[in-house]
Amino acid sequence: MATDYYGLLGVAPGADDASLKKAYRRLARELHPDVNPDPAAQERFKQVTSAYEVLSDPEKRQIVDLGGDPLASGPGGGNFAQGFGGLGDIMDAFFGGGQQRSPRSRVRQGADALVRIEIDLAEAAFGVTRELTLETAVVCGTCSGEGAASGTHPSTCPNCQGRGEVQAVQRSFLGQIMTTRTCGRCSGSGSIVEHPCAECAGDGRVRARRTLSVKIPAGIETGMRIRLTGEGEVGPGRGPSGDLYVEVSERSHPTFTRDGDDLHCRLALPMTAAALGMSVKLDTLDGDEEIDIAAGTQPDAVITLRARGIPHLRGTGRGDLHVHLDVAVPTRLDAEQEQLLRELARLRGEERPGSSGKGAGLFSRKRR
Ligand SMILES: [Zn+2]
Ligand SMILES: [Zn+2]
Repeated sequence: MATDYYGLLGVAPGADDASLKKAYRRLARELHPDVNPDPAAQERFKQVTSAYEVLSDPEKRQIVDLGGDPLASGPGGGNFAQGFGGLGDIMDAFFGGGQQRSPRSRVRQGADALVRIEIDLAEAAFGVTRELTLETAVVCGTCSGEGAASGTHPSTCPNCQGRGEVQAVQRSFLGQIMTTRTCGRCSGSGSIVEHPCAECAGDGRVRARRTLSVKIPAGIETGMRIRLTGEGEVGPGRGPSGDLYVEVSERSHPTFTRDGDDLHCRLALPMTAAALGMSVKLDTLDGDEEIDIAAGTQPDAVITLRARGIPHLRGTGRGDLHVHLDVAVPTRLDAEQEQLLRELARLRGEERPGSSGKGAGLFSRKRR
């Protein structure tokens, strides 16, 4: 069944153009999505709009009057409402243009900058203040960021009279449609720099090397970034600066490896020390530390020194230091030492370990 386009607009089949327009306008005011958020109203608004499009087009209206449906048949039929370029245009046509935009400022936020620094483990553990030298965009001193040559100023764009946008009138079957777009001459800023500053070529910025100091907090870790607000690139037209990010990476340490806020190290311990126990001096991040090795310490034993690791970045306290003991078996024995060890082995009944009776123990093999 053909759509009742007249019924949708609430007009009689013989209605003239002015009545159609009046009826559509009244319905659009009531149903337009800007006014009426109800989904049902929006659906009806679409139908009413396509009804108006059909009936205000003489050829399509003729099809309707002959009992047909111009939107339901033929190639592209039925898609008319979707193909229609946007309700904004049709509403502009009726209600005299959209909202007035103000010129887009030439001033923009500057970009963020990133620098990477390397620190050593002690610096990560206790924090450090570093001097950084970096090159970023800064406000051009010659034109104070305005971009215009000395003695001149940006002037009002003649293309858009400073509005930053231009309007064009297009004719369509609905009548005249007014469209608005950004002015190409001034990129929407409303002003143009006729005589650019020689120093910055009109950008208002130059690149410069500067030095600043950055405080690296204790507990920082590889891959973390410190943000220095407003220390990045200055924006065009004296726009606010972006931020500077300082990314930290930690050099590996010859003794300690880091696992979160805990540290690990290995300590070679002579076999005799492991057996007899002793006190050992260990060079920690906090200086020399005496650690007690208990008599009878086994290979791969771990001694944990509480709070001798990395300070927690957030909150208080520190990680631990885990000392992994490597019990070192002597590789070279002189005659006297060998004699003593043999004596020890004999006393402990360890001359033939394994006691499988094959006589293939360590000492017997060595004697061969
Ligand atoms: Zn300049
Ligand atoms: Zn312009």
